Amino acid sequence: MNMTLGGAFPLGCVEIRGSCGIIRLHSESFPAAGHLISVDRNRFFFDHYGVTERDLEQYLAAAISAGGDYADLYFEYLSSTSLLVDESMVKSASQGISAGCGVRVISGERTGYAYTDDLSPARILHAARTAALIASGPAKTPSVGFQEKKARSLYPVTLPSVDAEITAKVELVMRGDAAARAYDPRIKEVRSSYADELRNILVIGSDGTFAEDSQPLARLNVSCIAKTDQNSARGGAGGGGRVALDFFFGEKTPEHFAKEAARQAILQLDAREAPAGEMDVVLGPGWPGVLLHEAVGHGLEADFNRKQTSAFTGLIGKRVASEKCTVIDNGTMPWRRGSLNVDDEGNTTQETVLIENGILKGYLSDKLSAKLMGMGNTGNGRRESYEHIPMPRMTNTYMLAGQDDPQDILRSVKRGIYAVNFGGGQVDITNGKFVFSASEAYMIENGQITAPIKGATLIGNGPDVLTRVSMVGNDLQLDEGIGTCGKDGQAVPVGVGIPTIKIDRLTVGGTGRKDAGAFMQ
Ligand SMILES: [Zn+2]
Repeated sequence: MNMTLGGAFPLGCVEIRGSCGIIRLHSESFPAAGHLISVDRNRFFFDHYGVTERDLEQYLAAAISAGGDYADLYFEYLSSTSLLVDESMVKSASQGISAGCGVRVISGERTGYAYTDDLSPARILHAARTAALIASGPAKTPSVGFQEKKARSLYPVTLPSVDAEITAKVELVMRGDAAARAYDPRIKEVRSSYADELRNILVIGSDGTFAEDSQPLARLNVSCIAKTDQNSARGGAGGGGRVALDFFFGEKTPEHFAKEAARQAILQLDAREAPAGEMDVVLGPGWPGVLLHEAVGHGLEADFNRKQTSAFTGLIGKRVASEKCTVIDNGTMPWRRGSLNVDDEGNTTQETVLIENGILKGYLSDKLSAKLMGMGNTGNGRRESYEHIPMPRMTNTYMLAGQDDPQDILRSVKRGIYAVNFGGGQVDITNGKFVFSASEAYMIENGQITAPIKGATLIGNGPDVLTRVSMVGNDLQLDEGIGTCGKDGQAVPVGVGIPTIKIDRLTVGGTGRKDAGAFMQ
């Protein structure tokens, strides 16, 4: 994968003042659309629900009939499949469709939201009038005409997996089951699962926003339990992205994930208890980037900073990491699980530099926070479904590669831990404290990887942990496509990545408590 640093944070729009945390609120209304373009009617909601441009204008007019600064509608049609094989038998199989429309009205810092699962004009108008209750003023008129976002195609699948033959998907999960069992006779229990979806969306806004997207997503997972008379241990692996079904027959097969899951479980059978205390920690490349997501990423979401509840509030321009750290959020990576052509507010996604050589450069914003904070919109407004209000969310979040050879990083550690896989983690945004449980980790003794250890948890503080990064490897990897991020009860797919890094003196130990849902494999 070719990672480049670019797409710097939009210039001239950050008006957060110094380190005192005073945020200047903008009073201007949202900008009106520039020019008229005609909307291509040969589109999903136009085709399937007979929606017309005139309907859309009426809905928006109803939404801002009591004033308000801005209104938008989010149409969603989601089809999905899921399959679970447990003990070599198909335990569950489901296919579903959900459709609906959410209407949002923003008035100052307040948001009115109403949604309907019935896409008839009467129900949408009803939702629009309900959302409008948040505002109380003279009616406004929406921008005349829609301004369509320039089309982009980060995940051009010809046949969405959700429309592929179910027998092919059953074959995938059965192959995952068989490969895990064949790995070692001590593999006693296997669960293999597959899920995919195709989400068609249409977003229109009173500022002229018009954006459509068709978003495929697929994931294959294998988890297993290894048992001996004395011991048992778990392993799990999976992956996918915004890909078609053939991805799992070619690039990342069920056998690939099954062997990885079984390898982890077998390895853990002989793992010894993790030591506790402060020590150097080396993170392996790829999925351990979840630490970056939790420890730093959430704290850089603009809503927490607007409310001044983040541990990173007021730190733009300040050093929050060692100079070896550059952290990016990038929604534009082809096929990636966290990528989007447009976000759920109809904005084009982008590559955003969050931390550059250790200095905090910016936050991840949506329309509301960009307006209230007077900063650029980074295209990070996301939501779980039409039932949910959009919020600033991460897409694919990673640290750029550095100069160090991963072997040299390990050799530099006298006594420490090498953590290569995490079950999950969680963070308290307000104080930045995080806890992660490593699902695969090893002792490092005199520069050598020695015994596997179990039950290792990493405990630290978001604004502090990256200042302790003393070495950064040249081996950036992104995860295989398994991350789901939870925030305020909303789950969205994300990607994470990191090169091998060395963190000087981190606290290891703790209770080993499981993730409360922030991240799950
Ligand atoms: Zn998260």
